[in-house]
Amino acid sequence: MRMTRLLFPTLKEVPRDAVIPSHILMLRAGLIRKLGSGFYTYLPLGLRILKKIENIIREEMDKIGAQEVLFPILIPKELWEESGRWDAFRKELFRLQDRHENHYALGPTHEESVTDLFRREYTSYREMPVVIYQMAVKFRDEIRPRFGVMRSREFIMKDAYSFHLTEECLDKTYNDMSIAYQAIFKRLGLKTLSVRADTGAMGGSGSEEFMVENETGEEIIVFCRSCSYAANIEKAETVLQQPDVSAAAETSALEETATPGVRTIEELENFLKLPKMSFIKSLIYKNPDSGSLVMALIRGDREINEKKLAGALGWAEITLAGDNEILEVTGAPAGFAGPCLLKKKVEIIADLSVKEMRNAVSGANKKDTHYKNIKFGRDFTPDRIADINKAHSGDACPSCRQKLFESRGVEVGHIFKLGDKYTKAFGVKIADNNSSEKIPIMGCYGIGVNRSLAAVIEQNHDENGIIFPPQIAPYQAGIISVNAADSRVFAVSEEIYNILQKEDIEALWDDRDIRAGIKFKDADLAGIPVKIIISEKALGSGQIEIKIRKTGETRMVKKEEIASVTKAIFAELEDAQQ
Ligand SMILES: [Zn+2]
Repeated sequence: MRMTRLLFPTLKEVPRDAVIPSHILMLRAGLIRKLGSGFYTYLPLGLRILKKIENIIREEMDKIGAQEVLFPILIPKELWEESGRWDAFRKELFRLQDRHENHYALGPTHEESVTDLFRREYTSYREMPVVIYQMAVKFRDEIRPRFGVMRSREFIMKDAYSFHLTEECLDKTYNDMSIAYQAIFKRLGLKTLSVRADTGAMGGSGSEEFMVENETGEEIIVFCRSCSYAANIEKAETVLQQPDVSAAAETSALEETATPGVRTIEELENFLKLPKMSFIKSLIYKNPDSGSLVMALIRGDREINEKKLAGALGWAEITLAGDNEILEVTGAPAGFAGPCLLKKKVEIIADLSVKEMRNAVSGANKKDTHYKNIKFGRDFTPDRIADINKAHSGDACPSCRQKLFESRGVEVGHIFKLGDKYTKAFGVKIADNNSSEKIPIMGCYGIGVNRSLAAVIEQNHDENGIIFPPQIAPYQAGIISVNAADSRVFAVSEEIYNILQKEDIEALWDDRDIRAGIKFKDADLAGIPVKIIISEKALGSGQIEIKIRKTGETRMVKKEEIASVTKAIFAELEDAQQ
């Protein structure tokens, strides 16, 4: 492509409503333009990148035997009523009506469409598994679209669905997908974290989210840089360092100590001159639905993860108890609660961190008083012990014991075992090999295409712009004619351009009659992997300069070597990405 024929409107300034690098750079490099709140036009360069990402995904899907279809964006309301999602989806679903007053949704996802197709076209176990995917525009009425294409209302998603008669068959496809996703993100030059969730009952992993570290993420994840462990912070297991327990300490008897007005762990730490680890934090929680109360215990240096606690108790909601309820349970005002000698019998649930504690300090359920020398199992015994501890950075990794890190994460892909939710609702039956009828089970698998593009930019940029890996760059090589008005420079540029075209190297020739500085800046901004610089000076020496965007490195080559050297550079860049 010749730059003089290209719509490539770069911007010098940072656009007003853009705050994250990918959004800023996509606007500045002329990849996208906003058409409305949360929807964007892809300009020629942006679209080329998007198509390349789609093709990488397509290749990996085809490799595992998935077949591509295209569902309409419009979905009749009746299908969404069959699944029960017309009401369940609420405001995120774009709804519209035709002239005959039929209602439709603009598809945010296509479980209904694919299940309907499946029930019409498939009948026998011999045809299983069935894996269908599409690459299509989706709509979601985000309450607050922002961060450019990271969180938009219209987006392209690869969504795949699989159908099976047995768990083993589903497991196989699910694993194939997991491996394909890893291959896809690697080819895109994207570093992802894999967050697995166990569904328990089904055995094995029931879902896997592919996340990228990003400040715009709505989820907080903890992850290990030494192994592949990553988990949502609400679910992350924790491995705690246990304090040393000396033999002499074992024998001390429970003892009251006056702590006038000393309530918090920090105050106790100062007052008793003991480390946080010596205290048992005792908190009273309430189930707002049933009114039940529990006492939850955790070591003084840790926090309770209320989601884990609610999960362990089997409660849908959880809240801290009020002062009156604390008084009712402990007989003391807030700040002096402890597990020994409670006034009213309530269930006590202790975190794993409490189990090894000796000579601990906790409230004595009496105003201005604490107990010292509390021993687990002697002075109190909890009804339950569970992991209710909040994970955070610095904790030991549950799988390799190295340090965990904490970050916000954005989901770029998700694979999920769906079970029979849709097939059951749609009355789908498939004949098995004993000619009885079975309800098939499903898996679903998504990748956000535009979001993956934004994530690649978030991970690959510098102060001069984007650094695209060659496999998804809008053009692989930029030919920069320094002084295009010079007839010799122009002729050699054209010659190089033709050579590259012939060698299947996608070249963008900057043939504009403008200052060379602007050409360099624009090529760097758009992330073109190599620049081939044609100047009068270089022509005199018979050498042409190739400059690598990522490393800034320069190579001087003869005209005949341009294509082979350029290809070798792409191979090096791809290798470095592995
Ligand atoms: Zn680890």
